[in-house]
Amino acid sequence: MKCTIATISGDGIGPDVVAEAVKVLRTVARVSGFTVEFVASPMGGAAIDATGSPLPESTLEACRSADAVLLGAVGGPRWDSLPGNLRPEAGLLGLRAAMGVYANLRPARIFTELAAACPLKPEIIAGGLDLLIVRELTGGIYFGERGTSPDGEAAWDTERYTKAEIERLLDIAYRAARSRKRKLCVVDKANVLESSRLWRQRARDVAARYPDVETSFMYVDNCAMQLVRNPGQFDVIATSNMFGDILSDEASMITGSIGMLPSASIGDAGPGIFEPIHGSAPDLAGKDQANPLATILSAAMLLSYGLGRGAEAALIERAVSSVLAAGRRCADIATGAAGEIVLGTRAMGEAVVRAIER
Ligand code: NAD
Repeated sequence: MKCTIATISGDGIGPDVVAEAVKVLRTVARVSGFTVEFVASPMGGAAIDATGSPLPESTLEACRSADAVLLGAVGGPRWDSLPGNLRPEAGLLGLRAAMGVYANLRPARIFTELAAACPLKPEIIAGGLDLLIVRELTGGIYFGERGTSPDGEAAWDTERYTKAEIERLLDIAYRAARSRKRKLCVVDKANVLESSRLWRQRARDVAARYPDVETSFMYVDNCAMQLVRNPGQFDVIATSNMFGDILSDEASMITGSIGMLPSASIGDAGPGIFEPIHGSAPDLAGKDQANPLATILSAAMLLSYGLGRGAEAALIERAVSSVLAAGRRCADIATGAAGEIVLGTRAMGEAVVRAIER
């Protein structure tokens, strides 16, 4: 089988970390016996410099014709004074909209070897932490009607969801739960919000199609509290755009470092977009200091969610665990403990490659 992956390195540390994830994907393809072709395209600041547009049509075309998109990060101080629609971030939002990726999957997982980086008490994470937030990405209050009164005394944003938007998101969340511990918690504010009551009503119907998955409901304020009180109770959390935005940042902090966290944005059909949750970290760009593991783990999500190759994704995840178990750390996850060996970006990528080959 041959697959095509569109790569967008972007700006800052984007090229550094994408280069390592590409090496890892090439290695997985080689040892697993499939062929992978990479098509590199510019986006963000790099594309503005080259073409004047943050999202050239040729980049969009390359992404649409690929099986999946692997993205680094965009942005940087050089382009900060440009108007909003010409900034690097406009390229990213434009790409997500054009690709119809309405579900954002953000796993928050503590690697046992990095437990010391978790800000929670050890007894709270004693049972481990491995949860997945499935956030609706293209609807809700961020896209609803908004305005400011003529006298400037009031402003409003509208939370609006259709049944179809809720159901398609829940379908993705249930399918993800099926490949995990088969537990889904729908998080809303159904005691107050009409839109949340629609979420709950649709969730009850969709749940009937997945009798093998245990469904529960939780109010968002309680969920924010439970994530720090007992995060191990969660498997998959499905929620709206704004609640997911807030809860996923809270959950990511529990795992210790932004340099470790991958994400996947997917839709009904067509290629998904797989990227680390961190930005372009201009302070580290080109210095061989960025942690590439978030992008390498995004490559694992690309394999499982984008190409349906769960076994190959597990190969990458096991390789990352074994590298960490051997005491290899990038600077952002180093604690100074005895036995740690601090690696640069390229050496960390190489270490994962070698672990896969073993
Ligand atoms: P950032 O995530 O780039 O950096 C925040 C901090 O985390 C910095 O100290 C950085 O050095 C560190 N960091 C981030 N990734 C790291 C890694 N892989 N290894 C080690 N340390 C890492 O966020 P920021 O500083 O707020 O934004 C910088 C630029 O990135 C801005 O232009 C912003 O708009 C852009 N940005 C892009 C995306 C994206 O492309 N998806 C997301 C967020 C921010």
